[in-house]
Amino acid sequence: MENCIFCKIISEKIPRVTEMETENLVVFKDAHPKAPIHLLIVPREHILDLSEASDKLWIEIKETVLKLADKLNPLGYRIINNSKAAQEVKHLHIHFLGEVGVDREI
Ligand code: AMP
Ligand code: ZN
Repeated sequence: MENCIFCKIISEKIPRVTEMETENLVVFKDAHPKAPIHLLIVPREHILDLSEASDKLWIEIKETVLKLADKLNPLGYRIINNSKAAQEVKHLHIHFLGEVGVDREI
């Protein structure tokens, strides 16, 4: 997708700090971290949101979350997906926030 910032990051037209790559997903650091670890799990394919994600991709996202948790071993972590009006970048992504405790807003 021509004007999609995440497509440009996936194709490395815009640089990224990569944490992990799989056949269908790229995990890179969020440019404006909201936690000590803030990663974005992003499908290589331009899809809008969860409504366009196959069950297979969703399973792969889950496996990637568990691999990140295992690799980075944060004391606590959260995953977030913003959709519709809450979604700024219109390319599906899951936020992985690490070193988060219960002293959070939500
Ligand atoms: P959302 O509101 O869920 O669409 O969040 C979009 C996220 O993309 C925000 O957390 C931004 O900080 C992040 N972001 C925007 N541009 C970049 C970039 N060039 N590299 C890494 N993260 C980015
Ligand atoms: Zn895209």
